[in-house]
Amino acid sequence: MLSARAQALQPSLTLAIAAKARALKAEGRDVCSLSAGEPDFDTPAFIRQAAVQALEQGHTRYGPAAGEPALREAIAAKLSQENGVPTTSEQVLVTNGGKQALYNLFQVLLDPGDTLLLPSPYWLSYPEIAALAGAGTTFIPSSAANGFHLDPDALEAAITPRSKLLVLNSPGNPTGAVLSRAELEAIAAVLRRHPQVAVVCDEIYEFLTAPGHEHHSLAEVAPDLAERIFIVGGCAKGWAMTGWRIGWLAGRSDVVKAASALQSQSTSNVCTFAQYGALAAVEGPRDCVREMAASFSERRHLLSEGLRAIPGVALMPPEGAFYAFPDVSHYGIDSMTLCNRLLDEVGLAVVPGVAFGDDHCIRLSCAASPASINNGLERLERFLASL
Ligand code: GLU
Repeated sequence: MLSARAQALQPSLTLAIAAKARALKAEGRDVCSLSAGEPDFDTPAFIRQAAVQALEQGHTRYGPAAGEPALREAIAAKLSQENGVPTTSEQVLVTNGGKQALYNLFQVLLDPGDTLLLPSPYWLSYPEIAALAGAGTTFIPSSAANGFHLDPDALEAAITPRSKLLVLNSPGNPTGAVLSRAELEAIAAVLRRHPQVAVVCDEIYEFLTAPGHEHHSLAEVAPDLAERIFIVGGCAKGWAMTGWRIGWLAGRSDVVKAASALQSQSTSNVCTFAQYGALAAVEGPRDCVREMAASFSERRHLLSEGLRAIPGVALMPPEGAFYAFPDVSHYGIDSMTLCNRLLDEVGLAVVPGVAFGDDHCIRLSCAASPASINNGLERLERFLASL
């Protein structure tokens, strides 16, 4: 009965593992979950209050499919002022999380036969979302030896006439790699030679960088390419708002208009009162964001140092986001088997690297309390020592 599209679709493993860990905990099992990348902080109070107030004021009806005008305006102002990317509200679409921004963009840009250029390791949803648009994926491998950074020569070599869209996810999931301004300039130089290639910059982790690293937007570094650069962002990671489902797509207005038309025929507007919470977040002071980001930096450090102390574990210290992606191939077990055994034998939920294109690694999230991180490290070390 299923369409070929549905038959080919893989469910999201990050969400599946996180759900399994929650279910096991609910059954009373002793489980430590360092799986999904989800801040363990509550959404800041002023944001929650803004949504409650919006509910009380009757913001409970349909709104414009592209988003509440005030929120589109606020996101445009944020991108213009905070990211140095001049943006108008017509260039912004409010979406149901960053994922819908990606889905809509891929649907309106990619045709069957087109290819997505994807630096690898990669977040597991990109190739699936491309496949839903009928497009294939060309993976551009990077290695721990170069910190999992995209090599401009490898990018150049991967481009063909059917290459339509490049994904840049910096700070990156799962590796934590953060592209420097100089690296973005080198990537822009390659893109200038290939005018058929557009770029989607997934900046959902923009606020989460380790000390010594800074987030830059390609559209700010290479304004001459702005017509083919699309920014995806959202409230989930920076403001601890994963369940609110507030994301955005920004870029040239004809493409954003097409993505908005798609949204009007599929999901309509994002939950109206949630958008008012997001408005308070985006317009509000960044103190809460900075405090949470500083806490994630401490936890990233704790997780990294703990992993590096475990025999047989090799780690490129993450430069941002909230994951560590250590190489555990020393133990000679494929990453899926290893993660299944970690969950069954010591109750540790982490994500196999094979889902991100690297079977040598596993992904651990540091978006958990320091006590949980230490607990997870102890379980991992105990399990590996028993092999
Ligand atoms: N992006 C997060 C992760 O990789 C959340 C889950 C998901 O959407 O994949 O864990």
